[in-house]
Amino acid sequence: MKQNLRCEICDEIIEYNYDLVVALSFFGLKCYHNECYIREIKKLSSSILSGPYNTKGSTLYAVIWTTMFAIFYFKYHNVNSLLSIFLIICAIIPISLRSYSYYKYEKKLK
Ligand SMILES: [Zn+2]
Repeated sequence: MKQNLRCEICDEIIEYNYDLVVALSFFGLKCYHNECYIREIKKLSSSILSGPYNTKGSTLYAVIWTTMFAIFYFKYHNVNSLLSIFLIICAIIPISLRSYSYYKYEKKLK
């Protein structure tokens, strides 16, 4: 079911999945038109903190990052509990942001 998503910059409806960019800002993940996103990241005072989360590259990055930290966790989890907690957090964040981006924004345009 298609739902209306509004661009955070121009406040107009994002109609197509190819025109959607989901990126991290100071207050969480936000959705933008492709053109609005490009205009915003060119500004020096941009509030956007990351690249787009709704790309195949970011999905691959999240899977690799999570796998890498999971391997480190299973290798070093007995060494230091603080290091273990750090590795768990590092493993969870990328895949969580990617999943959140999909369920909050991308799924609504399909
Ligand atoms: Zn826009």
